[in-house]
Amino acid sequence: MNNSFEEITEIIDECDSIAVAGHVSPDGDAVSSCCAVAMALEKKGKQVTVFLEDVPEKFRAVPYSDKIKTEPSDEDFDLFISLDCGDEGRLGEFTYLIKNTLTVNIDHHVSNTYFGRYNFVDGDASSTCELVYRLLDGWCPLDKDIAYALYTGIIFDTGCFKHSSTSPFTMQAAAELMTYNIPFTEIQEKLFYSHTPVEAKMLGTAIENMELMCGGSLAVSQLSIEEMEKNGGNSKDADAIVSYLKNTDGVDAAVFFYEKKKGEIKASMRSNERVNVSEIAVKFGGGGHVRASGCTLFGTFEEVMPKVVEELKRALEV
Ligand code: 5GP
Ligand code: MN
Repeated sequence: MNNSFEEITEIIDECDSIAVAGHVSPDGDAVSSCCAVAMALEKKGKQVTVFLEDVPEKFRAVPYSDKIKTEPSDEDFDLFISLDCGDEGRLGEFTYLIKNTLTVNIDHHVSNTYFGRYNFVDGDASSTCELVYRLLDGWCPLDKDIAYALYTGIIFDTGCFKHSSTSPFTMQAAAELMTYNIPFTEIQEKLFYSHTPVEAKMLGTAIENMELMCGGSLAVSQLSIEEMEKNGGNSKDADAIVSYLKNTDGVDAAVFFYEKKKGEIKASMRSNERVNVSEIAVKFGGGGHVRASGCTLFGTFEEVMPKVVEELKRALEV
């Protein structure tokens, strides 16, 4: 069950030292929601530490991102705020914070397991940043840096206001954030309309590997570590690829498999209204949203791919 934002801000008001963390392989929403919350907490006079895995270069312009700690610490905190994490495991090496500390869980994944002592989960919200925007309303005044972060998370998770999770409220929030004179063109350009040469080359190999199944409604592709290395990259350069597969005309669902390390394969899924890919990801221990989800599988491509592809085929047959 959800707590109210009032209950959550009351608890925050009572605490002094606060840890904040988001999910492994942090994306634009995870990085930005953590930074926005941290900046707001500092305005409220709190001691704040943000923990995240390495922040990808794309998101390093987000204010506060240079202060993020990438290693766990043995420090004690009064409160821990988990952002953009559907379950405890998504916190990776920072999961220990839940065990040691009173936890607030704020998230927008439908698969959320309500692992916090206090929870605010809204599967219909476009992004965790949209929820943070609501949390701060009437409690902590916005400024240009917080607006920059919140706008970044919202556009990242909505694909620039394109995904069906974009609501009139999302647009109202973005409109208010724009009034803080944030460089919105630059933010969009960096996140959506530019890529590194390595990302472009990896995309090329992934497209070459693409197979269309189910009469063209299912797109499947994969990249091994060797293929990524041949292009001068690694799994961190692969996260935009699945959208290109999904954008193929006639495709209703896409899955992209890529090796994180030998024997550990990440599956990224995207779909339109025909398939609930969150349900499929959950079957494999992952989660996410109805139209965007992921999971990690262990084994070789030959072992893991058919299992997921089979589920997608079955879902497309219905
Ligand atoms: P992506 O495919 O871009 O990595 O992730 C798509 C969505 O699914 C994101 O919202 C992400 O947080 C979620 N997601 C990806 N992998 C996992 C996973 O292993 N477990 C859970 N619970 N969610 C995931
Ligand atoms: Mn998110």
